[in-house]
Amino acid sequence: METLISLVNKLQRACTVLGDHGEESALPTLWDSLPAIAVVGGQSSGKSSVLESVVGKDFLPRGSGIVTRRPLVLQLHRIDEGREYAEFLHLPKKKFTDFALVRKEISDETDRETGRTKQVSTVPIHLSIYSPNVVNLTLIDLPGLTKVAVDGQPESIVADIENMVRSFIEKPNCIILAISPANQDLATSDAIKISREVDPKGERTFGVLTKIDLMDKGTDAVDILEGKSYRLQFPWISVVNRSQADINKSVDMIAARRREREYFSSSPEYKHLAHRMGSEHLGTMLSKHLEQVIKSRIPGIQSLISKTIIELEAEFSRLGKPIAADSGGKMYAIMEICRVFDQIYKEHLDGVRPGGEKIYNIFDNQLPAAMKRLHFDKHLSMENVRKLITEADGYQPHLIAPEQGYRRLIESSLVSIRGPAEAAVDAVHSILKELAHKAINETAELKQYPSLKIEVGNAAVDSLERMREESKKATLKLVDMECSYLTVDFFRKLPQDVEKGGNPTHSIFDRYNDPYLRRIGTTVLSYVNMVCASLRNSIPKSIVYCQVREAKRSLLDHFFAELGKKETKQLSSMLDEDPAVMERRTALAKRLELYRSAQAEIDAVAWAK
Ligand code: GDP
Ligand code: MG
Repeated sequence: METLISLVNKLQRACTVLGDHGEESALPTLWDSLPAIAVVGGQSSGKSSVLESVVGKDFLPRGSGIVTRRPLVLQLHRIDEGREYAEFLHLPKKKFTDFALVRKEISDETDRETGRTKQVSTVPIHLSIYSPNVVNLTLIDLPGLTKVAVDGQPESIVADIENMVRSFIEKPNCIILAISPANQDLATSDAIKISREVDPKGERTFGVLTKIDLMDKGTDAVDILEGKSYRLQFPWISVVNRSQADINKSVDMIAARRREREYFSSSPEYKHLAHRMGSEHLGTMLSKHLEQVIKSRIPGIQSLISKTIIELEAEFSRLGKPIAADSGGKMYAIMEICRVFDQIYKEHLDGVRPGGEKIYNIFDNQLPAAMKRLHFDKHLSMENVRKLITEADGYQPHLIAPEQGYRRLIESSLVSIRGPAEAAVDAVHSILKELAHKAINETAELKQYPSLKIEVGNAAVDSLERMREESKKATLKLVDMECSYLTVDFFRKLPQDVEKGGNPTHSIFDRYNDPYLRRIGTTVLSYVNMVCASLRNSIPKSIVYCQVREAKRSLLDHFFAELGKKETKQLSSMLDEDPAVMERRTALAKRLELYRSAQAEIDAVAWAK
């Protein structure tokens, strides 16, 4: 038992310490990979007695007639230290340390389900024993197979019991202890019959012969035990359990074992087989077999663990990192997330990610087209020129050149460029905003924190809004500057004949004639076109300087400044994750850690010789 204990002990650390007791759970379990041992056989063949002796404890109700009337699923749990105790699934809060009371509770609980009759129920009783002296195993005590219904039992009982027994032992991880009493003919053994049905090759069936001490005088079981009458994969083992008289006298297990040893070594028929008979030997055989079975399952368990670790890790990384509790940690986390966002935003503007080219499109197409639509030629038609020049002259027609008229014509043209300039600022603003929105959604870290996402989004929009205002001021200033001071050289360099209309030798009244006004119109138009061309170049510079460059440089500066003033509570509310996510992450982290240590433990088992 010792090697098995240490082997299973390692596995146990890998399973039970995982919080994995084989119960229903959202996470995969290892318990299912471990074998279970079930006893099958006819009524009163000694099943409960054998099971007890494998466990090394007196706690099962035994006796003649039908005693075990419900399946008992007994889970043995190894604990590192402490007092042995038992617990029933139907009494979760109660710890039994007195095993006589365990036996009483088993029979009481049987009666609760079936009444004090001879009825049988297929509803199992679940009992767990926690002890430093057991290995993690599931043992199943089953009602005995019968041939006929007795008083109070329904006719179906024979088939019911058989089906129930079969449902337990047909599972491939179930080791079958097929119990046959030696004082009956083996040919009538129900245990052999049903186990051969579910395990035809006998790969997981142990033939156990009980009551050898009760055989008729003059008969013996040597042929069976030597495998001559019925051959099994594993050699037959006979045991001498306590008789009813022993039970009544409360003979303890140690004394019973000693007597059993004496029985085999002193009886002339069995002397030569004594080394492989008895409960102790059965225990050793089972241990060896279990060890082998468990070892053969290790690769499967290993791959299950690796697979689970990969799944857990994937989910863990999907959930993102947890946040520190102190305000420094929170602040740092927020800054880190913002830094990621900022980087993504820059990449959009710099062409690593798409979107930045839309800004160039505004400068290259939208702005020039909008300027063209201003139709200065119409504004500078002869009729308009006449109107503005006369108005500017007022009651005193100009004497040499219509200085005031020129100014009015030029200013009134240039002022209209404010419209396209402002529109370009707004268009760039909406692209910057759209890209910020995109970058926010592309920042995986922000998905985790809906509140922070909103705050960062708002902060970005506020900043962009401020930048738009600045840009508008600066850009309109460029236009206004052109209005406030005209390029003197342009007019000085004009060919003389353009100014002909201003020749003082002409009559004053000739000065408003058509060719004269047309010339003024043409002059002003070419001046305005020159200014337009220059603004087409300088407006984008102003916009990039005030908006694009600034957005790249300091989109969240204001947010960071405000962040510094916030208290822990406010910071936490920014990082208010969904509590379900937080819980899940904690649970995952714990499971993951345990699975990793389980992996290490099982690797150690796999390498152990
Ligand atoms: P189950 O119905 O198959 O669970 O059988 P039990 O374990 O309850 O045993 C039925 C009766 O047979 C009890 O009175 C036991 O004391 C007795 N018994 C079981 N095995 C042996 C044995 O090897 N020798 C003797 N003398 N009595 C036994
Ligand atoms: Mg029994």
